[in-house]
Amino acid sequence: MDGVALSRKSDITGDITHLIDEKYVVERRCVFCRQVRPLAELVRTARVKDEAVFDPRGRAQGRGAYICRDAKCIEGAKRTRALERSLKCRVGEDIYNEILKGVC
Ligand SMILES: [Zn+2]
Repeated sequence: MDGVALSRKSDITGDITHLIDEKYVVERRCVFCRQVRPLAELVRTARVKDEAVFDPRGRAQGRGAYICRDAKCIEGAKRTRALERSLKCRVGEDIYNEILKGVC
């Protein structure tokens, strides 16, 4: 279990470095606070086959929704079901918990 968590963390770090190296900073809007931020400051959740999945590497196919890497936004999105509305599918509590774990 520890190994899985660790490799996931390093994937996220690798992605941030990669994104900062890009010439163009891609920006997305947080589904909760509606602020536009560079991708590196957001986490992606994707809708894959009508199911929401946490997508820490931002590579899953399909519709994506972004939330700030901030517990306030993640908790807020969980409370207001902002991800459900953005992805138009059910988002289980475990997804939000996974995002929280991946970010903090
Ligand atoms: Zn936000």
